[in-house]
Amino acid sequence: MNKASRLFWPTLVTPKNAVVKQTEQLSRSQKLLTDLGLVKPGSNGTYQLMPIAQRSIDKCINLVQRNMQEAGGQKISLPVLTPAQLWKKSGRLDGDISEFYMVRDRSGKQFLMSPTHEEAVTAMLATTAPISYRQLPLRLFQIGPKFRDELKSRFGLMRAKEFLMKDMYTFDVTMETARNTYATVSDAYERFFRQLEVPFVKVEADTGMMGGSLSHEYHFISPVGEDTLLQCSNCGYAGNAEVFGSDTETPSTCPSCQGPQLSRVRGVEVAHTFLLGDKYSKPLGATFLSTSGKPETLVMGCYGIGITRVVAAALEVLSTEQELRWPKLLAPYDVCLIGPKQGSKEQATAESLENELLQTLTQICGPEEILHDERKELTIGKRLLDAKRLGHPLTIVVGGKAVQQETPNLELHASGAEKLELDVAEVLSLVARHVRHKQKLLHEQQGELRISQTIGHVH
Ligand SMILES: [Zn+2]
Repeated sequence: MNKASRLFWPTLVTPKNAVVKQTEQLSRSQKLLTDLGLVKPGSNGTYQLMPIAQRSIDKCINLVQRNMQEAGGQKISLPVLTPAQLWKKSGRLDGDISEFYMVRDRSGKQFLMSPTHEEAVTAMLATTAPISYRQLPLRLFQIGPKFRDELKSRFGLMRAKEFLMKDMYTFDVTMETARNTYATVSDAYERFFRQLEVPFVKVEADTGMMGGSLSHEYHFISPVGEDTLLQCSNCGYAGNAEVFGSDTETPSTCPSCQGPQLSRVRGVEVAHTFLLGDKYSKPLGATFLSTSGKPETLVMGCYGIGITRVVAAALEVLSTEQELRWPKLLAPYDVCLIGPKQGSKEQATAESLENELLQTLTQICGPEEILHDERKELTIGKRLLDAKRLGHPLTIVVGGKAVQQETPNLELHASGAEKLELDVAEVLSLVARHVRHKQKLLHEQQGELRISQTIGHVH
């Protein structure tokens, strides 16, 4: 059980008439996260996650992990520091490295604070005793911090210099089996985004600095998005404007059906997949023993999901100016329970109902999913305002109406909906429905739930 009075929740108090020095561009979700004490800015472009936000990030990690394991992934951890020598071998050190943090140890040896781990994981496999074709496909993933020295970090967690990422690296025998792996992991990605219930688009993408032959991006649609996406209303084809070789002009015809109905929207990239081929395995000498017993080069893919960015961008898409709104599976708590104010005439009677409710809610949701706002020195109104801004999926108020009638009535505030006055049984049944919905999302099998991928459905 989580108690609001014990929660570390350093809300931002700005004195009246204070001149706030705006050091970075804030999105509305970032402003709410900062004002409400969920996230604190660290040094320029880095962020400190406070307990409420950390709960959501942890839920996102668990959900991603679950989907990666369903796609045959095995979790590993690689060091943040990658020897620069490996990037020399892959050729990437000779490209534009201005966005990477380079550090030296006391002996002068140079390292990258890794923005990605293709070289590191490939070198690890190259130094492993020969891998047999029987061990393939091999799908390894990790979840950890990544670093990028952004020229302009902005929109808080959406574009930070240090961020949390899930990165998976896959190894196959042939290009054909690597394509099967690509399809399997792509299915897991689509399932993950459907489970979040945030409208997304999957688009064909440029392979960019990563290289390779096939690439897709997953975007949430938002005006603060930094990518321009084009979608064909005729055949459903969607692509990043980059792949058209033009970021400013809309091409006149769809590359897939040659139809004329291409529309533009802004997207926040939250995930990216690449079929890499032998771009890294060849220069780094990562091989396996084929059926004939001869070493052959491994065929690779890499697959990223920006964990912190998914949470921040989902909030940006769903929230209003005044209230956070969370994907149900990522909300820090399912239910917030607010009891009567200290010294109010209904206190004694309402409190006994409050305590009964706490027990039943614990049985329905589990103790970890309940935030009990027992700051009884505060009015119900003040606590309700906090609860609404924090965007709990369900907030239950045990107030004056809980004692005035033969059947005690509670207030139920569902995130984004009008207040309801209901009796205890009705409230509990709505809580149970919420829990069932979450379970259904979690156990979704491929293709069971249909969430629109059409841009037209996005507000
Ligand atoms: Zn088309």
